[in-house]
Amino acid sequence: MTYIEPAPLQHESPLESMKQRFNEAFKLLNISPEMYDILMVPRKQVVVGLPVTMDDGSVKVFEGIRVVHSTILGPSKGGIRFDPDVNMDEVKALAAWMTWKCAVVDIPYGGAKGGIRCNPREMSTGEIERLMRAYTGAMLDVFGPDRDIPAPDMGTSEREMAWLMDEYSKSYGMTVNAVVTGKPLVLGGSLGRKEATGRGVMTASISAMEKLRINPYRATAAVQGFGNVGSHAAALLQERGVKVLGISDVTGAYYNENGIDILKAMRYRDQHKGLLEGYSEATKITNEELLTLPVDLLVPAAKEDVITDDNAGGIQAKLIVEGANGPTSASADEIINEKGILVVPDILANAGGVTVSYFEWVQNRIGYKWTLDRINRRSDRIMKDAFDRVYNTSQEYKVPMRIAAYMVAMKKVADTYKFRGGY
Ligand code: NAD
Repeated sequence: MTYIEPAPLQHESPLESMKQRFNEAFKLLNISPEMYDILMVPRKQVVVGLPVTMDDGSVKVFEGIRVVHSTILGPSKGGIRFDPDVNMDEVKALAAWMTWKCAVVDIPYGGAKGGIRCNPREMSTGEIERLMRAYTGAMLDVFGPDRDIPAPDMGTSEREMAWLMDEYSKSYGMTVNAVVTGKPLVLGGSLGRKEATGRGVMTASISAMEKLRINPYRATAAVQGFGNVGSHAAALLQERGVKVLGISDVTGAYYNENGIDILKAMRYRDQHKGLLEGYSEATKITNEELLTLPVDLLVPAAKEDVITDDNAGGIQAKLIVEGANGPTSASADEIINEKGILVVPDILANAGGVTVSYFEWVQNRIGYKWTLDRINRRSDRIMKDAFDRVYNTSQEYKVPMRIAAYMVAMKKVADTYKFRGGY
């Protein structure tokens, strides 16, 4: 499974939902009003036309976008998506979101995002390769290991990142693997990247349990989604003593009051086309029922908008750690806060992925490979520190951790800007 650079996927306009949280945090931060535009307006928006020869000999022109939202903290970082719905508003929102995400975990990156309006499912491998190379060529002045570092996102994977690295390297007459992350291991990808997001979810969960005085060895959990993030999070939680009573995927949810053997369930999934259908060591329930199980910890790690005002009232967990992007709708937020459930928001909880992306870039730049143990220790520390910063801010300002996460990120960027200055 390829690493996907984190991005929010709310059904409502992502730009609006990002702005809503930004505005709330901005008011509380009490910083100069002129910082509003400095933090909000993207630094660079590039739109290119990309003529590509299709397999039938015809030439089709695709639209490619790259938005660099901020370079205040360092070179910008963000994925490239191939999707028929790519549009400037969405890319702008996702680029800003990357700025806040990198800032919250305190890695020296700004935020960016890119996309090409195309349908990769209807294109041949050759057509996709030519498109990726054409996009890279058009973005030679934008990308760069010290300027803007792309990564995979929806519709792209390590395969496209390898082409990007190759095309960029050819143009400069030397191998420049630090220009992109999410590469195959043999091209300088990082160990630990596959499990990184799930591992971060585990670290955030254990940190939150400490605050709530929940002993992991006596704790129970339910995990929605058994893909890259959900299954690794569940396995690592189990390793830390948590009893995972429920797991789920598109085929339904699976419950066992004595706990599910996660490694066994992962093996089952891998032998059954990636699905849990037919898993017999648990009782089948619905995904809706999974969300309201009487457990200590709920990890939504499947998709956006699964916790809504329809089901939030029934949630019994004391703690929600958002592995997925945007799993909780804004209206559900209110209900959950009223119930006193602690929510570790997506922008923090699933930042383990971008953290190991950063490690990939660092390793490429120093020309050395770190051991898995070193990567895990360093990413655990980054996640734990970020959790503490956000938790302490939420206590100080008496706000939910979601707003606190935005506050931490925005303050860091604003403070850095004050030192760097503008014209
Ligand atoms: P994935 O495709 O590997 O897994 C998704 C899982 O969710 C699958 O098990 C699928 O069957 C299940 N699922 C889909 N629809 C469902 C539904 N309606 N009910 C229950 N289960 C359902 O994806 P992933 O990489 O694990 O990503 C999951 C979420 O985490 C997404 O929101 C993604 O944006 C976010 N995220 C991923 C990463 C990463 O590194 N992969 C990083 C940050 C955020």
